[in-house]
Amino acid sequence: MKKWFAVIGDPIEHSKSPTMHTAWFEEMAIDAAYIPLHVSADNLATAVTALKTLGASGWNVTIPHKTAIIPFLDELDELAEKMGAVNTVVRTAMGTLKGYNTDGVGFVRSLEEAVGTAHKDKPILLIGAGGAARGIAFAMQQQGYMNITIANRTVANAQAIVDEMGVGCAISLTEAEERLADFAVLVQMTSAGLATGSFAMPFSLERLTKGAIVADIVYNPLMTPFLQAAKAQGATIVTGLGMFVHQGAIAFEHWLGRYPNTNSMIVQLQAQLGGQE
Ligand code: NAP
Repeated sequence: MKKWFAVIGDPIEHSKSPTMHTAWFEEMAIDAAYIPLHVSADNLATAVTALKTLGASGWNVTIPHKTAIIPFLDELDELAEKMGAVNTVVRTAMGTLKGYNTDGVGFVRSLEEAVGTAHKDKPILLIGAGGAARGIAFAMQQQGYMNITIANRTVANAQAIVDEMGVGCAISLTEAEERLADFAVLVQMTSAGLATGSFAMPFSLERLTKGAIVADIVYNPLMTPFLQAAKAQGATIVTGLGMFVHQGAIAFEHWLGRYPNTNSMIVQLQAQLGGQE
């Protein structure tokens, strides 16, 4: 039987996952389909039953279901369990459902692809403490990044992640702006700069150190106001597109046992999102 996969979320129209996975199936001559499904919070239970009944081999989970999906799954991967959030569901050979979270590892992979690993023991500033930030903080810790500070509008949310990690420290956005010269790598993980958003920057980058690496996980627009300001200050910038493509590629590998071509996908999506950095 032809395999099929899906992404469930609300809203879902904006998702680039169907385009990406369908292109990989074609490129790798895999007889499979991937469809976007609009699933509201009220319909999650019905949707999971339908996905199982209709034989989906796996699916991605996006806002607002990343935590709500957990009670419907039989098993969680260690990182997903730690994060309390799932973005990938695999139907195992036994027919059970296993949840993974590929966002954080996807980010680390894209960062290291862009700038290598020489900065691994340098001071890192993570800005934001929402769901994506949580995944990235845990994945960075798991991959050996030890010197992590988390800044957030609501410091208590940053502190909660730090407490769970057992290392690092939590600071306010104002303190982060004042201490910017202390950090070698900055990762912008709030919803600032989103094409649909109303706020553009978590803080000013005037005090950014020369030679800093600045990443943003927002990828639409590709060049967020934060990255534009960092580039103007001479920083090496990393857009959020690599994270998006790698989180999808890791999900693809969980489903099909093969890693797709991420480089050509980044080029294709870059063109759709308005070209080069
Ligand atoms: P979330 O859970 O809603 O967290 C939002 C974060 O932004 C929180 O830290 C929040 O601070 C902060 N924030 C929101 N409005 C703010 C404001 N006006 N001033 C200062 N801080 C503000 O969202 P998420 O799921 O973590 O996603 C964050 C972003 O990452 C989204 O834009 C999403 O598109 C992007 N993302 C990208 C990828 C990718 O593959 N590249 C994957 C996942 C997510 P408080 O804690 O104070 O509320």
